[in-house]
Amino acid sequence: MSLLEARQLRVTIGDKTIIDRLDLSLAAGERLAILGRNGAGKSTLLSVLAGLRKPAAGAVLLDGEDAALLHPRQAALRRAWLGQFQNDPFGSTVLETALTGRHPHLGRWDWESTKDADLACSALQAVGLAGMEARQIHTLSGGERQRLAIATLLTQAAPLYLLDEPLSHLDLNHQMAALELFAGAARDCGAGVVMVLHDPALAHRFCDRALLVHGDGRTEMGSVDDILTAATLSELYGYGLRQIEDRGHRCFIPE
Ligand code: ADP
Ligand code: MG
Repeated sequence: MSLLEARQLRVTIGDKTIIDRLDLSLAAGERLAILGRNGAGKSTLLSVLAGLRKPAAGAVLLDGEDAALLHPRQAALRRAWLGQFQNDPFGSTVLETALTGRHPHLGRWDWESTKDADLACSALQAVGLAGMEARQIHTLSGGERQRLAIATLLTQAAPLYLLDEPLSHLDLNHQMAALELFAGAARDCGAGVVMVLHDPALAHRFCDRALLVHGDGRTEMGSVDDILTAATLSELYGYGLRQIEDRGHRCFIPE
């Protein structure tokens, strides 16, 4: 069964259709990149795929069940969603924040156990935040806060990751580390990964397929080799690109 399925999906914002008749199916271990211009509707689409926003038509299935009918706790056990922005209205430590990923797994009156704390600590270690458990989140840098958001997601341990610009605020080293982490989750644990990315070279390197969102309802999907080309991307971004291949990796250079 697919971890994620979209059937004849239509997504609208006001009277504007941004996605029309999208069919999509994501199997365990698959990684899908979503690319498009600013304002094309990538974040809106991702929140519909997460079951956080209702589609105008069609359906989203999470592990075979209609996302619109799932209780938020049930949805949180099936997919972990990384929003584009982290807002921290309340003070909290790094460890407490990472532990919130365990909440869907706990009963209403349960406290987090040592096992939950161990999971949170190993997730913090995986993103290079070990030793910062007691820090207040408002003292973190942008990149550190983003890595904490990724650690919180790993702590949630859902079979499907929906990531909205997971690389924002990250330096090159941490971008590669984050992408390797999710590649490992797909390869070793069969996780499905959908991520909004702005760098087509990284999408080509770290994903199996790509979905191009044009912003007017049109979408194109295919294997990264087929769909991430100078021609399709030049049209998508409205800027001429040249394509260069190097040791199996594909780069795009603005004309
Ligand atoms: P992307 O993630 O591709 O940059 P978004 O999905 O965030 O784009 O937004 C798509 C478009 O919808 C943008 O033009 C944005 O300004 C607009 N939009 C998003 N939410 C609202 C809203 N609540 N009211 C009006 N316009 C919105
Ligand atoms: Mg966005």
